[in-house]
Amino acid sequence: MIMVESQVLLFGDDPTGRREHPFAAVVLRGPTGDVTGAGGWWFNPRAFLATGLDSVVRDRLNTNPRMYGGLEATRNLCVQVFDSEGHEVARVRDPGFTNTARSADMTGPFEGFHVSVTATSRAPVSIAQRFVMVEVVFIFVLTGVMLGAVFVGLRYILRQIELVQEKSSFVSNVTHELKTPIAVVKLAVETLEMKRFRGPEEEGKYLRTIMREADRLAQLVDNILDFSRLEAGKKMLRMGPVGVSDVVASTLESFRLRLEDAGFLLDVDVPEDLPLVRADGIALQHCLLNLLDNAVKYSRERKEIRVFARARDGFVGISVADRGIGIEAEHQTRIFDKFVRVETGLVHTVKGAGLGLSLVDQIIRAHYGRVEVASTPGEGSIFTLLVPVWADGTGTPRPKS
Ligand code: ADP
Repeated sequence: MIMVESQVLLFGDDPTGRREHPFAAVVLRGPTGDVTGAGGWWFNPRAFLATGLDSVVRDRLNTNPRMYGGLEATRNLCVQVFDSEGHEVARVRDPGFTNTARSADMTGPFEGFHVSVTATSRAPVSIAQRFVMVEVVFIFVLTGVMLGAVFVGLRYILRQIELVQEKSSFVSNVTHELKTPIAVVKLAVETLEMKRFRGPEEEGKYLRTIMREADRLAQLVDNILDFSRLEAGKKMLRMGPVGVSDVVASTLESFRLRLEDAGFLLDVDVPEDLPLVRADGIALQHCLLNLLDNAVKYSRERKEIRVFARARDGFVGISVADRGIGIEAEHQTRIFDKFVRVETGLVHTVKGAGLGLSLVDQIIRAHYGRVEVASTPGEGSIFTLLVPVWADGTGTPRPKS
């Protein structure tokens, strides 16, 4: 036999928002007194107890003692009854994810039980909460997007400022680079014109100075012209089979004067039997000249330069090694960017436009080759131009990486 116990609980403030509205709860016990089910309604208790209880027990509880309830007033509410140990003994509907649960201890015949009423997920309060959650997520995402946009905008502005600074320092560096040799040449020519030298030896010295400074000027002008042609995509390379030893010899020919004047020891090791490379000979000379120029500029007391070439995996590597100031590892990729000069050591006293390596890199890439650098600060640097070997005109060897 199923026993039915009922109780009317008065909630001061119920979850449906209706004040002072009574809650009717029913607990079912089996023959041994165990709780087999429970339920509850917001309802007029007197009327319910007088007329409704019998039919509810007869029609619903006997057939499905754990699932019942469902009157209008409780449509969006979950009712849970817990025993004294906190175990759920009955439930009508599942609770939604809300923090609006109201609960009360039951008294009288239900002493020790505890009933809790929570909004289900379909209750307006839950829908409102979900809506608020969606709004919070939306605001969060929107804030993220706005912060991201501000960040990207700031970075763009900073980069533009940096570019403007780089360009203005480029212009002042180039101006200085152009003015210095012009001033030196002017002075030497004046001295020669006014015959203010003591004998043929000194005359020769002035002539050499003019020659050297003219070379420097020519190289700088070449760099600037090449740079603007490359930037405009107008530099044309005339590819053909080129002998590395010829390129090295003719480059050194024009550079030897500068090396001797600066007191450098030069060691050249270029085997005659190297394979031909696929290159524009003049552009390759220009690259080598830039590497040699840097080797001179960034050396201090150890004035030694070594030029060597080796065949390697379908490429010929032409290297220029110096015993100069070297380059910190963190700057070794940056130096190939245009206008970049490393702000340390000798670089403050040595003038430059920050164009040379960027040009070398672009020209060698256009050959499907690459430039490698190995350097230890204080010990020196080795720059290597890797140029693909000439494949008998059958195709262009591609670089491995
Ligand atoms: P520039 O010499 O006109 O400044 P480059 O593009 O030729 O411009 O070189 C970029 C930077 O790389 C130089 O400013 C210098 O800091 C560094 N660098 C290039 N070659 C060497 C080298 N052989 N030894 C040390 N640092 C070098």
